[in-house]
Amino acid sequence: MLHIGIMGGTFDPIHLGHIQLAEHALNEVYLDRILFMPNHTPWMKRNRDILAIEHRLNMVRLAIEDNPAFELSLVEIEAAGDSYTYQTLETLKENFPKETQLYFIVGADSLFNMEDWVHPELILQNAVILAAVREGRDKEALHEQKERLIELFGGEIRLLSMEQVDISSTRIREEFYQSQDVKEMLPKKVAEYITQNHLYQNEV
Ligand code: ATP
Ligand code: MG
Repeated sequence: MLHIGIMGGTFDPIHLGHIQLAEHALNEVYLDRILFMPNHTPWMKRNRDILAIEHRLNMVRLAIEDNPAFELSLVEIEAAGDSYTYQTLETLKENFPKETQLYFIVGADSLFNMEDWVHPELILQNAVILAAVREGRDKEALHEQKERLIELFGGEIRLLSMEQVDISSTRIREEFYQSQDVKEMLPKKVAEYITQNHLYQNEV
């Protein structure tokens, strides 16, 4: 049986929080691989400009190239128009052998949003959710939310033992042009790519 993790995100930019989350999922759950799946135009983020997809893809490639279990997936990028997670999971199910178990990997903020996603019950039907703590949501809050979602929608949610990693793309976008600190939140090659391509240079 194949065990495939899916790490969806805007990756604007990809950072060490994403990488650590994926590594934890890989090692704790014995996944065979993890697909990094950048999204096109996330409906929750319509109100801000998102960096061109070419740059986001290049950064994901640089961030994952040293780990043979990490792979780039263009499923959401190639889907026409909006892509919702439940549809993405259905597409992946069709593309993998029948005995494949999918795992959808999220940080706490996503777990707390999941009720507002389109067809959460189908997401939980097609994938085990792996969730990690993140800013302001401790393990207890996460546990409660897990129980709540399972009661509402069924399925399986597992909490990862990862300690909190205080990194976000928002902070990197806001501070990259003025601070060395945020460079440490990025894989080295991604920080270099941002500098070389003069990305995130303006105050936002
Ligand atoms: P933004 O600030 O633009 O929303 P982000 O840092 O939240 O960016 P996303 O691309 O939105 O990154 O996140 C993709 C997934 O990775 C989400 O499920 C999110 O919860 C998770 N994630 C991102 N950063 C972390 C982190 N530091 N710890 C745990 N999970 C994280
Ligand atoms: Mg986010």
